[in-house]
Amino acid sequence: MSETMKKFTPRDKGIKLVSKPNDFDVFDDDPDVLRAVLSCGHITDPNSLTDCCKTQLDYGQTEFKCPVCEETWPYDEVRKLAKLTLEEQLSFEEKLGTNTVKNLFDFRVCPGCSTFVERLDVSNLCVECPVCTEKTGNSYEFCWNCLREWKGSQNRAERCGNVGCTIDKKLLKDCPMISLTYFENKKVSGSLQLLLSDCARNTDEENTALAGKVSAESERQQGSLKQADVVSNV
Ligand SMILES: [Zn+2]
Ligand SMILES: [Zn+2]
Ligand SMILES: [Zn+2]
Repeated sequence: MSETMKKFTPRDKGIKLVSKPNDFDVFDDDPDVLRAVLSCGHITDPNSLTDCCKTQLDYGQTEFKCPVCEETWPYDEVRKLAKLTLEEQLSFEEKLGTNTVKNLFDFRVCPGCSTFVERLDVSNLCVECPVCTEKTGNSYEFCWNCLREWKGSQNRAERCGNVGCTIDKKLLKDCPMISLTYFENKKVSGSLQLLLSDCARNTDEENTALAGKVSAESERQQGSLKQADVVSNV
């Protein structure tokens, strides 16, 4: 992936070097190659670390996390162990800044023109990009969830019509179970949870509002909800 292959040498000071295999690349296990031990304990070479962190920045992250153990790596550590070139450092720092701004305000990058677009209606995943719309003369809409051109009917809070558009399950991992008034003695889990796009981002105070959203969703979904989607609360 990297244009220039970066390598560690015994001259690299202040880096714990080992000959163990790369934890981020199963094919990189040559015992004659030096690799660095990250603060989380995992092993990397500069190229895998650069690519891994670049991807995280492209996904809008504001900090770097080990893909194996999810521990955070400070930027200074990444800069050193990924042997970032001056050009890479500038690009990383610029992206970190942009992503921070993007996270502060609810922005997404438009898949059509790569400009930041703000969502005005938080209950709708279908968002129009004013730049693309003006440029093409046709309304250009994209999905806030999967960041692809919008497909299907507008005004949808759960997903668009693109294959594979589902809410990030990882985000919903810690999502609290919520009682549904519609289904007596039932709690929401599994695929119904996936309907709640902003669930994981909600704070405790917001859960009351969320419960209302679930009820509304459950009513809308009543015809198609399968038995497997609901677990008994006993
Ligand atoms: Zn790790
Ligand atoms: Zn656009
Ligand atoms: Zn989508």
